[in-house]
Amino acid sequence: MPVLTESLPTDPAAVRREASRRRTFAVISHPDAGKSTLTEALALLARAIQDAGVTHGKSSRHATVSDWMGIEQERGISISSAALQLTYRDTILNVVDTPGHADFSEDTYRVLAAVDSAVMLIDAAKGFEPQTVKLLAVCKARNIPIITVINKWDRPGLDALGLIDDIGERTGMTPVPLTWPAGIAGDFHGLLDIPGKRAFRLEAVDGGAQAATETEVRPAELDPIEAARWVEAEEEAGLVESSNGAFDTAEFAAARQTPVLFAAAAKNFGVSQLLDTLVDLGPAPSPRETLTDEPRPLESPFSGFVFKVQAGQDSSHRDHIAYLRICSGSFERGMVITNQRTGKPFATKYAHRVLGRSREVVDTAWPGDVVGLVNATSLRVGDSLFAEEPVRFPDIPRFSPELFAVARAKDPGRYKQFRRGIEQLEHEGVVQVLRSDLRGDQAPVLAAVGALQFEVAAQRLGTEFNAPTSLDHLTYTLAMAVAPGSTGVPETFRGGEILRRADGEVIAVFGDKWKVGHFRKDYPGVVLEPIGAAI
Ligand code: GDP
Repeated sequence: MPVLTESLPTDPAAVRREASRRRTFAVISHPDAGKSTLTEALALLARAIQDAGVTHGKSSRHATVSDWMGIEQERGISISSAALQLTYRDTILNVVDTPGHADFSEDTYRVLAAVDSAVMLIDAAKGFEPQTVKLLAVCKARNIPIITVINKWDRPGLDALGLIDDIGERTGMTPVPLTWPAGIAGDFHGLLDIPGKRAFRLEAVDGGAQAATETEVRPAELDPIEAARWVEAEEEAGLVESSNGAFDTAEFAAARQTPVLFAAAAKNFGVSQLLDTLVDLGPAPSPRETLTDEPRPLESPFSGFVFKVQAGQDSSHRDHIAYLRICSGSFERGMVITNQRTGKPFATKYAHRVLGRSREVVDTAWPGDVVGLVNATSLRVGDSLFAEEPVRFPDIPRFSPELFAVARAKDPGRYKQFRRGIEQLEHEGVVQVLRSDLRGDQAPVLAAVGALQFEVAAQRLGTEFNAPTSLDHLTYTLAMAVAPGSTGVPETFRGGEILRRADGEVIAVFGDKWKVGHFRKDYPGVVLEPIGAAI
């Protein structure tokens, strides 16, 4: 039996020390830009605190995933890696996963509430792509400092100066390169360390399975052809510096500057520079804003908030994992903590460091760390948790849905179960649930940012709530909030309709952006606003 302990007063100096050596960040990118490859390269150069199964390349990672399923079946629990923990130069890096590809969902945005910085990964050949732009907008709305990495420099791609201009225009931040490539995209010879005024030639190592060798060179001593590449790199870096200025910590922290690095993650080129940048310049956890008081000092008793809940993705499972980000104090497994929303205390006997194959039990964790609480079924996304001194952190905003479907119980006799299930999924934030008098309670509209959310909802309604459900997809693609005080709000209109969310938000959904223009003309008394974080 796990031992329950009273929460012990934590040594403030220990909390400050542990917080200052943590960097909690996410990699934001479009699918295929190289997020998995970069994560593997980071884990190769840093040391994975657990064997998270990401360090051995994609093919073996699939094998690892099936190992996880074995563990899941054995223990009747579901496993997902929400954060990977690495150590590098005595710093602990918490890499929070932003689910992409087929897993893209509102969670992808929500996890950004849990990070102190983001690494924006751009494919050198493709530049800004749609998913990067959306995630960037969420970071900007939260004022999260962003380090930009231009990846795949070993392949033909866009021009370095052009990419820098593009970053400035697309992000609204001033790009400040910390490294500059010798050689155009596809002809990657080395990196200039701009602040250090040093040059490193990169030697490829087979298959990227080891750290690349980086040899310091003096360009003046190289043969003329090679020397010319370095001279050109210095000239280009100098051009950017004279127009954009030098790196400035305060400007970066305020998300007005973004440091830029060049890399080829598949060859481990430029990856140690990213690790050094995170350690030397990346923000450590700082006192978090609250709705109750001043920002919560790091050394106050334990507090944190839930940024992701994962539940019952398999019919045989009734599990529920709430991922929390620690904001203050120390977390000790077994300690009793209180959920601010319900006022109810509970014991954290099933706390896990998140998570790898080994699903390691967490004994102690510190500000910036991510912990998974297993079977904490009452927890919802956005809940604030604390020991001793109550606190409420700001809610995690809802995001603008882009996919809509009408849900109906296939068997009308199971309506009660259906309704209970819909309410539960709504509370957990699996999907947004929108209703209208016209449609009635029997046919709510489910709204999502990724198709996976519908799949999870339908599966859980069928297996967990015993209410097999049909989903009829609607052709709407965008939603806007109707501002309070609007007048003459119609129930339906050409090309859209008005729906309500349980939190009181009135939402207009549209087939496309042109319909928004028509609507504004037809209903001048209605003020439309972007939903949640404007994306
Ligand atoms: P993700 O979808 O963002 O996780 O992208 P992956 O890490 O799976 O990479 C997508 C593809 O790009 C894979 O085939 C990688 O091997 C390849 N890739 C990733 N980084 C690089 C790089 O630096 N250079 C080259 N040439 N290929 C890369």
